[in-house]
Amino acid sequence: MLEFGRSQRIMRLGGVVNIFEKIIAREIPAKIVYEDDLVLAFHDVNPKAPTHVLIIPKKNIPRLAEAGADDHKVLGHLLLKAAEVAAKLGLAKTGYRLVINNGRDGGETVPHLHCHILGGRALAWPPG
Ligand code: AMP
Repeated sequence: MLEFGRSQRIMRLGGVVNIFEKIIAREIPAKIVYEDDLVLAFHDVNPKAPTHVLIIPKKNIPRLAEAGADDHKVLGHLLLKAAEVAAKLGLAKTGYRLVINNGRDGGETVPHLHCHILGGRALAWPPG
């Protein structure tokens, strides 16, 4: 069982809603750069690169490891739209990195699947 900080969880009748679900529901603000029926992309509140955007499925998939066979459409869509959003943000020519953190050792802090789009500077490899 993964553990997450209380600040990432907001109790609500019927269950626990994470911060990204609140952004999808427009219950908290975000700088949204793209939205369609399946995904939402918005600027990370604590950017790790000059451009740092998160793209998330609207479906509540906690993390990649918990995606199922019926999620292949949304996962493919997420990656294709990540590339489109990166291009829209001016990163296509210089390049960018997509990151999905899964679980404790992966550095996951929000239990709602999200793909980081990072660019605007040369990124080190391997990650720390
Ligand atoms: P991860 O560590 O992979 O789970 O990434 C979670 C990301 O969500 C971090 O980069 C946070 O800075 C970002 N984050 C947390 N809360 C918000 C928020 N309200 N709006 C935008 N980004 C957020």
